[in-house]
Order: sequence, then structure tokens, then C-alpha cells
Amino acid sequence: MKAIVQAGNLKLVEDKNFPDPVKDGKRPIVKVEYCGICGSDVHSWEIADRTKGLVMGHEYSGIVVDPGDSTTLKVGDRVTCSPITPCGECEWCKMGRDDLCPQDYYSPGTFFKEVPGAMADYMQLGKSAYVKKLPDNMTLRAAALIEPANIGLRACQSVNVEKGDKVLVAGGGIIGVMAAQFAKYFGASYVAMTEINHARAKRALELGVVDDVFDPTEEGVEEKINAKIDGGYRAGGGFTKFIDCTGAAAAINFGMNLTKKAGKVSLVGVNWKPVPLMTIVALLHQLTLVGIMSSPTENFDIILKAVSEGKFNLAPYKTKEIGFTLDEIQAAYEELHDPKNEQLKIMVKIGEGE
Ligand SMILES: [Zn+2]
Ligand SMILES: [Zn+2]
Repeated sequence: MKAIVQAGNLKLVEDKNFPDPVKDGKRPIVKVEYCGICGSDVHSWEIADRTKGLVMGHEYSGIVVDPGDSTTLKVGDRVTCSPITPCGECEWCKMGRDDLCPQDYYSPGTFFKEVPGAMADYMQLGKSAYVKKLPDNMTLRAAALIEPANIGLRACQSVNVEKGDKVLVAGGGIIGVMAAQFAKYFGASYVAMTEINHARAKRALELGVVDDVFDPTEEGVEEKINAKIDGGYRAGGGFTKFIDCTGAAAAINFGMNLTKKAGKVSLVGVNWKPVPLMTIVALLHQLTLVGIMSSPTENFDIILKAVSEGKFNLAPYKTKEIGFTLDEIQAAYEELHDPKNEQLKIMVKIGEGE
């Protein structure tokens, strides 16, 4: 079969004779239909020494060609699947928090070349129990967006966004806009965003997922924001929940300052370097800070339901669709590698399905 393989030095190669997945009576096999390119794929491509030979791709939809050990799946089912492969038996898995499972993640398409991902004609999934059938009214194209939506959902869950909350989201990338849409979904009465990139700010407003977007570097912006949040912290107001999707110190400190006393802060943005936080603000405001990484598999069900009922719209997040060719995929990685890129999600159309 055809696969696009990590080759090192910011290069991908096409392998027309990549081995087909082999039926093992356990892990289901799908014909891949759509595969989204994730920021973490681009990061692996940038540091490809560790992942040379890997077929990436963990945001996908496909059609079952072998149900493996599943008793509910059948050939021809349209599916997507959680990218994590938890054990299903530890204390975390049993309480529905399989995102905390300590098992080594042999997740297809993420770390180990022995477990290839979705940038290929066919793919073997992690575990049949984590495969989700798509509702009839959901397209294969939209289904490949569930995995990134899952992180936006988890961000809201981590600070328990609920009816009446005033929520601030820092950063208008795909996770930021999805977190903002979930905040509305959970009944937040006001959702604001901070974003220094004006094109991204404009897009978040156009998507209709935020009430306001503010440029935190603008003169007098705090007064403007405080007017929307009951006068702000000093007046006893502020955002009740703050979700950072930037990992940048300036954005986090700015947001914590605007968070109401006893507010909750979710740290979602990835930054491998130390981040100088104004911990005194966390003390004065008596904030709770929580970090998130990945999302429980059962969240896929919440999203499938919300989308099929028309309460959550995934469609606008795909900003570009490309064909399953080396040139187009290589160019997409290069585009996403540029921090100034304007894409939310580049989707690769691998099969013929819609
Ligand atoms: Zn991803
Ligand atoms: Zn487990």
C-alpha cells in the first residue's frame, strides 16, 4: 500500500510498497478516508531523529475492512478512533479517566514506527473497544476533526465550565477556538479571547465562537475588558474560568490577572521551556491551576452526540483540504512549520469517501 513516511531533516518520503497491516484477530483494520495534520505531527517531523520511519497521523476517519476482535463492528462501518490505547484495567481506566492510564502509549501514528498511523491507504487501530461508529448524519470529513475537538472539550471540563461562566481563552489556534465553542456549548454567558495575531482574532469572531477578542498588547485594553466582567478583579468581578492555549508567560499572566477570585485556570498550551509565571497573582486571586494533556476516550461520545444533534459544528475548522500526494503533504508540513501560518486544520483526503 501507499504510505507517507517520516524521513528526517524535515522531509517526508512516499513508500508505494509499505507493508499492508496484517489481520491479527484483535486490532481492527480500516481503509483510511481522511487524516488531519496535527501540530504534534509537525513537531515530530521537526525532530525526526526519534521518529524516523514513522507513518504519522492520529486524527482520522476510515471504513472498517477487518473488525478484529470487536463484536459490534462490521466490515463497511464508518468509524473514527481515539488515538490513545489505554490498558482498560488500571484505576484510572476504570473510573473513565483513561487519559491518565500509565501504560506505555503504543498509539498508532504518534511515537513508534512499529505502530504506523493514518497517512496511508490502510491502518490498524489501537484497540477495538476505542473505535467509534459515526452517526449517519456525520461526514467522514468532519469525523477526522473529532480528535482535536476532544482537547478543546477536555480544556473546558478541566475547569468545569458551566452555565453562566465568564470564560477567557488565550490563543486563537484550533484548540483555542474549539475550547471557546465548547465553553458556549456548556452555557458560558460570556466568552472572550486574547490574541495578538489580528487575522486569527478576526477569524475567531467570524466563527462566532467568542463574544469579543482583545489584543493584550493594546494600550488600555484591561479597562475595556474589565467593563465586560463586572469591573474586574478589584471590583470583585473577573473571568470565572481561564483557559490558556498559548503556553506563553505573557498570555498566562495577563489572563490570571483578569480571573476572578477563586477562579480556575486550565493550562493547555505546550511550552517545553520554563515559563515565568506571576505566582503572586495565583496567590492573591486564590486560583486553582490545572494542566491537561490528551482526553478521555468517552469524550468522543460527547462530541459525536453534540455534532449529530447540530449543537456543535466541526465543519469550519478545516481551513484547507489537500490530496494524498507527497508534494502536497510535504508542502502542508512546511506551511504549518511557519509560526505565522493561518491554518486551523489541513485535512488530507486519502480515500474516495465524503
Ligand atoms: Zn492531534
Ligand atoms: Zn489503564
